[in-house]
Amino acid sequence: MSYPRGDTANTAVVLHCEPLGDGAADAAGTARWAVLLDTSSCHPVDAGWPDQGPDRAVLRLADGDRPIIDCVVAATDGTALHLGSGIPVRKGTPGWAFVVAHIVDDPSGIAEGHRVEVVVDADYRLALSHGHSGCHLAALALNRALAARWGKAIRNDGLGQPDFDGAAIDSSRIAEYGSVDTYRLNKSLRRKGFDTEGLADQLPVLEEAINATLAGWVAGDAPIRVEAEGPRLTDRRSWVCELPEATVSIPCGGTHAHSLAELGQVRVVLTLDEVDGTPVLTMTTAVGEH
Ligand SMILES: [Zn+2]
Repeated sequence: MSYPRGDTANTAVVLHCEPLGDGAADAAGTARWAVLLDTSSCHPVDAGWPDQGPDRAVLRLADGDRPIIDCVVAATDGTALHLGSGIPVRKGTPGWAFVVAHIVDDPSGIAEGHRVEVVVDADYRLALSHGHSGCHLAALALNRALAARWGKAIRNDGLGQPDFDGAAIDSSRIAEYGSVDTYRLNKSLRRKGFDTEGLADQLPVLEEAINATLAGWVAGDAPIRVEAEGPRLTDRRSWVCELPEATVSIPCGGTHAHSLAELGQVRVVLTLDEVDGTPVLTMTTAVGEH
């Protein structure tokens, strides 16, 4: 995989191409095929933690482009290909390979051994990368703003603050130049020592504190990089940001900006809702002038 280092194009050899659902059409009436390549710069969505969605991309052949209509993490034991949430084993299970499945609705000219070019929409990727970097940075600022609400010791984040994000995150969605994270403030979180008293009234103060922290960090222009233990899909990767306080590392399979200055500005809005009797905190983050 070459997307972790920021690549948006590569030449590849087709390893495998197979029709999905026994060649049957999906609900929309479109037949689809999964294409596996020896290497890819196209970021797939991972059903296990679908925070960053698939890239927009094409497979370029001599006679034209085949749009990649979806790109998903898949796995195979060599007998069958399982896509997304249909993968029956955990990553790292012996005998299984985890791969990027490039889904196309036109497989003409794509066959094992053929050379193709992967071309990713670089503007869209940049927008997601900025959104993803802003998301991690905002989570650290949120941890800082909520630190005083912990009555017991919990695991700390990379800045030595109680890791509210790690303890309470329910879902994270990366958008173009932004993200939406939701946190469930349930009984188990309160038992761990998190105090929700008066939180609704305090949201504007928290927002202000988070946005001030973010403004300070962005002005500091810390470098950001993705560290990878290897080039394979399942190799451990981390978002690393050299903040003035400390160099922070967060496990992450996504793509990122190269520095905080690149983001221009990161701001959040907090809302508190009740979902099935449980308070849910939502942090919506916007990056740049978007
Ligand atoms: Zn991430």
